[in-house]
Amino acid sequence: MRRSAYGYLRAKEADLPIKKAKTCIACGLPLERAEDYPLGDETKKYCKYCAHPDGTMQSYEEKLAAMTQFIQDVQGVDEAAAQEFARKLMADLPAWRKRVEVE
Ligand SMILES: [Zn+2]
Repeated sequence: MRRSAYGYLRAKEADLPIKKAKTCIACGLPLERAEDYPLGDETKKYCKYCAHPDGTMQSYEEKLAAMTQFIQDVQGVDEAAAQEFARKLMADLPAWRKRVEVE
Protein backbone atom coordinates (compact mmCIF):
# COMPACT_ATOMS: atom_id res chain seq x y z
CA MET A 1 0.00 0.00 0.00
CA ARG A 2 2.72 2.38 1.03
CA ARG A 3 4.70 1.45 -2.02
CA SER A 4 1.91 2.21 -4.45
CA ALA A 5 1.20 5.56 -2.79
CA TYR A 6 4.85 6.43 -3.25
CA GLY A 7 4.70 5.38 -6.87
CA TYR A 8 1.70 7.62 -7.37
CA LEU A 9 3.52 10.60 -5.93
CA ARG A 10 6.52 9.95 -8.15
CA ALA A 11 4.27 9.84 -11.19
CA LYS A 12 2.64 13.12 -10.18
CA GLU A 13 6.05 14.71 -9.76
CA ALA A 14 7.01 13.67 -13.27
CA ASP A 15 3.80 15.24 -14.60
CA LEU A 16 4.65 18.67 -13.27
CA PRO A 17 5.25 21.10 -16.11
CA ILE A 18 7.83 23.06 -14.11
CA LYS A 19 11.36 21.98 -14.87
CA LYS A 20 13.80 21.58 -12.04
CA ALA A 21 15.71 24.81 -11.52
CA LYS A 22 18.95 24.68 -13.43
CA THR A 23 21.73 27.18 -12.88
CA CYS A 24 24.87 28.01 -14.81
CA ILE A 25 27.82 25.99 -13.54
CA ALA A 26 30.20 28.89 -14.18
CA CYS A 27 28.34 31.90 -12.71
CA GLY A 28 25.21 30.62 -10.94
CA LEU A 29 22.72 32.43 -13.17
CA PRO A 30 19.32 30.66 -13.37
CA LEU A 31 18.82 28.96 -16.73
CA GLU A 32 15.11 29.32 -17.36
CA ARG A 33 14.57 29.97 -21.05
CA ALA A 34 16.24 28.84 -24.25
CA GLU A 35 17.62 32.36 -24.72
CA ASP A 36 19.57 32.04 -21.44
CA TYR A 37 21.71 29.36 -23.07
CA PRO A 38 24.60 29.87 -25.49
CA LEU A 39 23.11 29.89 -29.01
CA GLY A 40 19.84 28.72 -27.44
CA ASP A 41 21.35 25.27 -26.81
CA GLU A 42 19.56 23.90 -23.72
CA THR A 43 21.88 20.91 -23.46
CA LYS A 44 24.64 23.25 -22.23
CA LYS A 45 25.33 23.56 -18.50
CA TYR A 46 26.37 27.21 -18.66
CA CYS A 47 24.72 30.48 -19.67
CA LYS A 48 25.29 32.73 -22.67
CA TYR A 49 27.34 35.15 -20.54
CA CYS A 50 29.86 32.39 -19.81
CA ALA A 51 30.18 31.38 -23.45
CA HIS A 52 32.26 32.53 -26.38
CA PRO A 53 30.37 33.71 -29.49
CA ASP A 54 30.76 30.17 -30.91
CA GLY A 55 29.01 28.64 -27.86
CA THR A 56 32.05 27.13 -26.11
CA MET A 57 32.59 27.90 -22.43
CA GLN A 58 34.96 30.64 -21.30
CA SER A 59 38.09 29.67 -19.37
CA TYR A 60 38.62 30.35 -15.67
CA GLU A 61 40.87 33.30 -16.50
CA GLU A 62 38.34 34.83 -18.88
CA LYS A 63 35.49 34.45 -16.41
CA LEU A 64 37.62 35.77 -13.55
CA ALA A 65 38.58 38.86 -15.56
CA ALA A 66 34.94 39.51 -16.52
CA MET A 67 33.68 39.02 -12.95
CA THR A 68 36.45 41.21 -11.53
CA GLN A 69 35.50 43.99 -13.94
CA PHE A 70 31.82 43.58 -13.11
CA ILE A 71 32.43 43.76 -9.35
CA GLN A 72 34.68 46.80 -9.79
CA ASP A 73 31.96 48.58 -11.77
CA VAL A 74 29.14 47.67 -9.39
CA GLN A 75 30.90 47.93 -6.03
CA GLY A 76 33.40 50.65 -6.87
CA VAL A 77 36.26 48.76 -5.20
CA ASP A 78 39.83 48.49 -6.50
CA GLU A 79 40.94 45.70 -8.80
CA ALA A 80 42.71 43.61 -6.15
CA ALA A 81 39.67 43.59 -3.84
CA ALA A 82 37.32 42.87 -6.73
CA GLN A 83 39.47 39.97 -7.92
CA GLU A 84 39.64 38.45 -4.46
CA PHE A 85 35.85 38.62 -4.21
CA ALA A 86 35.45 37.15 -7.70
CA ARG A 87 37.72 34.22 -6.77
CA LYS A 88 35.61 33.51 -3.70
CA LEU A 89 32.38 33.62 -5.70
CA MET A 90 33.79 31.30 -8.33
CA ALA A 91 35.09 28.84 -5.73
CA ASP A 92 31.46 27.95 -4.92
CA LEU A 93 30.48 27.22 -8.51
CA PRO A 94 30.57 23.67 -9.92
CA ALA A 95 32.64 24.61 -12.97
CA TRP A 96 35.58 25.87 -10.92
CA ARG A 97 35.55 23.78 -7.74
CA LYS A 98 38.01 21.31 -9.13
CA ARG A 99 40.38 24.06 -10.13
CA VAL A 100 40.36 25.62 -6.67
CA GLU A 101 41.19 22.26 -5.09
CA VAL A 102 44.17 21.89 -7.39
CA GLU A 103 45.57 25.28 -6.48
ZN1 LIG B 1 27.08 31.78 -16.57
